Amino acid sequence: ALPKASNFLRQLIESDLAKGTYASRRWAGSPGDAAHHAQGGPDPAKIRTRFPPEPNGYLHIGHAKSICLNFGLARDYGGVCHLRFDDTNPEKENPEYVDSIIDAVQWLGFDWRQGGNGQPYQASDYFDFMYRAAEHLVETGHAYVDEQTVEQIRIHRGDFSKPGVDSPFRNRSPAENLARLREMRAGQHEDGSMVLRARIDMAHPNINMRDPTIYRIRRTTHHRTGDTWCIYPLYTYAHPIEDALEQITHSLCTLEFEDQRPFYDWLLERLIETTRLPDGRVVGGLLASPPPRQYEFARLNLTYVVTSKRKLAQLVYDHKVDGWDDPRMPTLAGLRRRGYTPAALQLFAERIGVTKSDSWIDYSTLEGCLREDLEPKAHRGMAVLNPVKLVLTNWDAVMGAGHLEPGTLPALPHPIEGQASPLRHFCIGQQLWIEREDFEEHPPKGYKRLYPPRPGADGQMLPGSTVRLKGGYVIECTGCTKDATGTIVQVQATVVPDTKSGTPGANSVKVKAAITWVGVADGVRAEVRMYDRLFLDAHPDAGSKDFIESLNPDSLKVVSAIVEPSLAHAKPDDKFQFERHGYFVADRVDHVPGRPVFNLAVGLKDSWGK
Ligand code: ATP
Ligand code: MG
Ligand code: MG
Repeated sequence: ALPKASNFLRQLIESDLAKGTYASRRWAGSPGDAAHHAQGGPDPAKIRTRFPPEPNGYLHIGHAKSICLNFGLARDYGGVCHLRFDDTNPEKENPEYVDSIIDAVQWLGFDWRQGGNGQPYQASDYFDFMYRAAEHLVETGHAYVDEQTVEQIRIHRGDFSKPGVDSPFRNRSPAENLARLREMRAGQHEDGSMVLRARIDMAHPNINMRDPTIYRIRRTTHHRTGDTWCIYPLYTYAHPIEDALEQITHSLCTLEFEDQRPFYDWLLERLIETTRLPDGRVVGGLLASPPPRQYEFARLNLTYVVTSKRKLAQLVYDHKVDGWDDPRMPTLAGLRRRGYTPAALQLFAERIGVTKSDSWIDYSTLEGCLREDLEPKAHRGMAVLNPVKLVLTNWDAVMGAGHLEPGTLPALPHPIEGQASPLRHFCIGQQLWIEREDFEEHPPKGYKRLYPPRPGADGQMLPGSTVRLKGGYVIECTGCTKDATGTIVQVQATVVPDTKSGTPGANSVKVKAAITWVGVADGVRAEVRMYDRLFLDAHPDAGSKDFIESLNPDSLKVVSAIVEPSLAHAKPDDKFQFERHGYFVADRVDHVPGRPVFNLAVGLKDSWGK
């Protein structure tokens, strides 16, 4: 279990639980109204939170913060968190996104089925209620149909410096408005010809309270309700109702919705209260009291990352990346494919905490969480990137022709308690693969790895370097061979007998470096995808910049590699630490037996300051 730091939301919830704020939730209206409520009688003493994505894209790392927060609070306080699709805007929504969101929440480790009927909640299930509530607002004089153009409405709303101007349609009678609204709903008016607005205060200092639009006409097929509706509620109207119907107690959203809170409260109050109409009828009590409350927290801003579904969609549709699950994408699908684990993301959410002021989180914080999770868990393996062949020219003479020296290393550096660490088996022989960068024909000053004999100051030949083959023998470099283009195709060395690691002679020769290697006899060819940050700019979408311009042209380098034989059995999603290179994951899409593909998840050390 992670340590739980207190924060303002925990304090609020603890206070509400202590006071029993929601224990007495009830309706003022007739019991029949309760039938409209979707929740089917939840325990009112519990807290209820919700995670309400709009199914218009894949979830990203910012959503992970919100998921961990909402589901985490519900879990910690014995409450329930609803997964709700906020599908009130049919133009941009589609079922592919619904599936990807369910997948991502589940993968992150949260059981969204706990509080419901086994299905996620869908805002579109409340369209009937929302419409009925709209008629109620009209009947009670709290809403009117406005036939001004969208442009006129915008201009007449005013701004911070001046009050708005009343619409000429603002003082129509409720009966007239009700007739218009019913015509809108029946499809008797063109898209955009009129809207339904709340009737609040055109001089209100908060512009969101100047008669906000709550319904508009849109002839768009909805992915769930089809063509049943040609009018759709706006988010600011739909959201509070969704929360109230599901008996949410604490509705957590990001700070940019702070200015919407007065309308959230206004709307729910109008639907909770009862009113006597001029004809004597008492109406209202559509929702239970007390209503849910909205609280705002700072959204996640992560350096080198854009967290906007619209911008992420642009990267996908303009083929700047290879789909929503490209390992460079900050989507949960991308992070998963990159090698991120649910535990690492939960740790990240816990570590960044929740605050009420916006700030930037350094990308290295996220990477640190992944390293922390993988360090004790990931099996070790040897991978030689950009390999060149090393031939031990005296091997047959010293060891015997065709002889392969078996070797083993533990798969984990710290065996998990009560679990024997499995061993990796491999062979040393006359021919090995080493990293191309571990040999320099003309070594720069201070270079300690392989270099050949070279003339000294007095004309005498100095010997080549001696290095240790990790877990194997000490070798002395003797030379190299190049092809016609000058590319080094082979490095030669001699093995120093009786120096194998773990034997009494191991320390008889002092060396300054050890290099990694894989045997030619049992090494396995693999593709390794070396990922780097997707953007070069720490704030790619700040200000007026076009974020596309700060894309890193080198964010992916595909490298050929030879990996040790144990890695041939890796399954998709298996994670490893490749000695000296970092943490890698077998790609969950392209890795297949016989054609291994590994993605760099994160380097061993923080390289973001490089
Ligand atoms: P985007 O701007 O990427 O489209 P959104 O806020 O419109 O994101 P929704 O699907 O409406 O996306 O969001 C679902 C929930 O996730 C909301 O409650 C929202 O506040 C939260 N959320 C979205 N982005 C972040 C973020 N960067 N940090 C924290 N929470 C976020
Ligand atoms: Mg949205
Ligand atoms: Mg947004």
